[in-house]
Amino acid sequence: MNAMPPRNRPVYLDNHATTPCDPRVVEAMLPWFNEKFGNPHSAEHRLGQEAEAAVEAAREAVATLIGAEAREIVLTSGATESNNIAIKGAARFAAAHDNPRRRIVTVATEHKCVLESVADLAAEGFEPVVLPVRPDGLLDLATLHAAVDEATLLVSVMAVNNEIGVTQDLAAIGRITKEAGALFHTDAAQAAGKIPLNVNALGIDLASISGHKLYGPKGVGALYVRRRPRARLAPLFSGGGQERGLRSGTLPAPLIVGFGEACQIAAAGMAEEAKRLTSLRDRLWSGLAAAIPGITLNGSSEARIPGNLNVTFPGRTAEALMRACPDLCVSTGSACSSAAVEPSYVLTALGLPPDAAARTLRLGLGRFTSEADVDYAVAALAAAHRGAEAA
Ligand SMILES: *Cc1c(COP(=O)(O)O)cnc(C)c1O
Repeated sequence: MNAMPPRNRPVYLDNHATTPCDPRVVEAMLPWFNEKFGNPHSAEHRLGQEAEAAVEAAREAVATLIGAEAREIVLTSGATESNNIAIKGAARFAAAHDNPRRRIVTVATEHKCVLESVADLAAEGFEPVVLPVRPDGLLDLATLHAAVDEATLLVSVMAVNNEIGVTQDLAAIGRITKEAGALFHTDAAQAAGKIPLNVNALGIDLASISGHKLYGPKGVGALYVRRRPRARLAPLFSGGGQERGLRSGTLPAPLIVGFGEACQIAAAGMAEEAKRLTSLRDRLWSGLAAAIPGITLNGSSEARIPGNLNVTFPGRTAEALMRACPDLCVSTGSACSSAAVEPSYVLTALGLPPDAAARTLRLGLGRFTSEADVDYAVAALAAAHRGAEAA
């Protein structure tokens, strides 16, 4: 039984899965759907030129967010596509240009689209190396150092983990990668707009970003591709040669305008929002810890983004907790395969046994999370947990 009163709208603490569009983003996008619907590649007339100018302004905003130049930004459909272009594109370019480097190094806790892209390259003669993480979710730098050599083409390590929120030491990873002469790719889908990210300071050659993880629309993203020295990629799509040949296809001007607006909003408010989220996150953690003795936090408590808690509950499964809290949107991070719910491979990589992984929830706070939302979540989860003990 759920002791909590019903609510008009669910409390949304799943901001790592996706974020709502900021109303300012929606506003900025609207004219580009019908009034100004031109194809940004139709350079011969005014409607096309207007759309092109809007796309280029957005590209500049995306670049500014990560300290890049506009011409280093390739617009894509999202981080999944960006990761595929970065990893497969780098490998296929190397193979086509007699570069003998064949090793591709990544980490066990990466997003599936990185892990699968790297794994797919084994069939093309590459050597995938998937490194373990420490129990706190961080990559051990000595382990990386030992794995990266003159045969290494690419190192792909995510900036912020989408389940446990830990932040990897990108500057150190960038240095180790550069020393070996390899390319450094980072999946920055959970980092961009949330924490400062400068591609030059961190030695990043390739970085993937997603619009819908930073209060922009779904279906748009970017790949940063370093120009000096140039990170060389083979395109995955054949077509009209848009995006300097790297990503053929008509650019979705409305989505791109929204993505640019989202990047600008995120950059302008980042420091203040990080403070606000840290305080909400701490309120959530202390509330839960007081109400539910024995809960544990997964992932480093220091090297993590403000808006994430990944919590293992004693004595009740995540599924049962979620069932008891229908007005709370949280998630397990588990992958539902055909029949069984499998434990999260990220938590498994941290060394959590399957039964602990099954008692774990990801709580993701965001721009529209209020103190009242946090207090509701604490009360709802505490009540759900007490229900378990009584049962
Ligand atoms: C969401 C996410 C992706 C996939 O991004 P899409 O834009 O939805 O394709 C990739 N990596 C990480 C870390 C993510 O959080």
